[in-house]
Amino acid sequence: MEILECDLHMQVNRYKQLLQITEKLHSFLDVNLILGELCVALKEVFPDYSFSLLLSQDTQSHSDLPIIELEYDSENIAAINAYATGEIQFEYSSPDKHAIIYAPLKGQQVTYGVLQIIAADTTEFIAYEVEFLTLLAGSAGCSMENAHLYQQSKREISNLQLINETSHCLNSNLRMVDTMTYMSEQIITSIDAQEVGFFLFSNEQANVKILPGSTSYFYTKQARLYIDYIKEKIEKEKNPLFIGDINLQNIKSMTSFHSILAIPMIQSEKLKGFSIVMHQKPYFFSFDTFKLLQSLVHHSSLALTNSMLREELEHMVITDHLTKLHSRKFLDEKIQWSMKEIEEGTFILLDIDNFKELNDTYGHQVGDKVLVQVANLIKRNIRGQDIGARWGGEELALYLPGVPLDRGAAIAERLVKKVSECSDPHITVSCGVSYWNKERLDAYHFLFKRADEALYIAKGTGKNKVVIQGNNIMVS
Ligand code: GH3
Ligand code: MG
Ligand code: MG
Repeated sequence: MEILECDLHMQVNRYKQLLQITEKLHSFLDVNLILGELCVALKEVFPDYSFSLLLSQDTQSHSDLPIIELEYDSENIAAINAYATGEIQFEYSSPDKHAIIYAPLKGQQVTYGVLQIIAADTTEFIAYEVEFLTLLAGSAGCSMENAHLYQQSKREISNLQLINETSHCLNSNLRMVDTMTYMSEQIITSIDAQEVGFFLFSNEQANVKILPGSTSYFYTKQARLYIDYIKEKIEKEKNPLFIGDINLQNIKSMTSFHSILAIPMIQSEKLKGFSIVMHQKPYFFSFDTFKLLQSLVHHSSLALTNSMLREELEHMVITDHLTKLHSRKFLDEKIQWSMKEIEEGTFILLDIDNFKELNDTYGHQVGDKVLVQVANLIKRNIRGQDIGARWGGEELALYLPGVPLDRGAAIAERLVKKVSECSDPHITVSCGVSYWNKERLDAYHFLFKRADEALYIAKGTGKNKVVIQGNNIMVS
């Protein structure tokens, strides 16, 4: 009777202890601290038993705790069973006279490892000890899960913040070089990459173009091996690549890279290019990093395509959409070229008079039609090498290479007359004319300025006329 009472008292104490330990374990949000506390508690409650923590590789932490790696092909069947089934396992080793318990560290979702307890010179554990250890291991498993989930959600929040920040920046219409440099910096700092490269398939897809923002390594001969290998794989499989330890023949350099992530850049279901991220250490990047990189590259693909298209367009547009005259960019380039290469030239700036009024009276569409009429008159009244351009808005320009001022002015006069005669609804135009030749030190912006000042005078003195750069309009 007395013994029973003593037993009961001990059990009550143990459960009180268990409750205290559990509370403490649940208060930690770091797996290392939980395992440390578990070891302290075990030493206190079972000072005569020895114990180890068998943990799978991804749960292992760097600490001085009695941790043993749990390998799936281990010969320790009881430990593997406890891990796989989530049920407590017992073992008795007759030569050593050891009784062993394997208690799974089990959470709601997965088992994180196994607690191994060895009792020397014992054949079996007492029932309440088994119950105590089962509950303790279960409690530790739940705490580990809690800590894992906490760390995971913290990581995901910071990843989302990064993606959000990146998207925001990419949407601000940067130039391509700025977009890619920004992406490259984000990737290097957020995932600790050593090299980051962006590649575009050229039209023939035979070769790839290295985009600005890529780290300088990708411009070396050595990098070609990696680029070619990945290009081929991505072209064939169109999938992202997660390589822990690449083994390329021909790479004997000291700076060889082992960890490689590669993400295809897909836009409107078309494979446009890919991004490569590398680190020299094998298995350096985690799967989470890989997923994060996929999100980042996915977000950047649209921004990249947009900035590329914009730049291509800027380059390609030499014809104005409405008037089919040349663009200002084209005109600028031609004048600058001609001022270096030939002897002289005349420049005419033409502006429709009271165009705002016309728009207000007839509407913008009629305004557009009139603009096209004027443009067509210009086209009909110039020769092959002359350039008619849309200067901007309702201002048009003509450049007549090799044409002296008097002839240029006559052409302007003829135009002003024709517009007034032919336009429907009726409008008039004013012109400012300027001229350059090799004998005088001159520059393109002075040529334009003189024409603009002449036009201003034409507008201020009745419109529907031509004003030629006067002696009073000097090169400033
Ligand atoms: P001014 O004789 O002094 O040149 O008077 P204006 O009314 O022509 O000059 P202002 O610069 O005040 O107005 C130009 C107007 O031309 C305003 C703008 O709405 C119109 N405009 C500019 N580009 C286009 C275009 O492409 N199509 C149409 N329909 N209107 C245009
Ligand atoms: Mg104007
Ligand atoms: Mg005008």
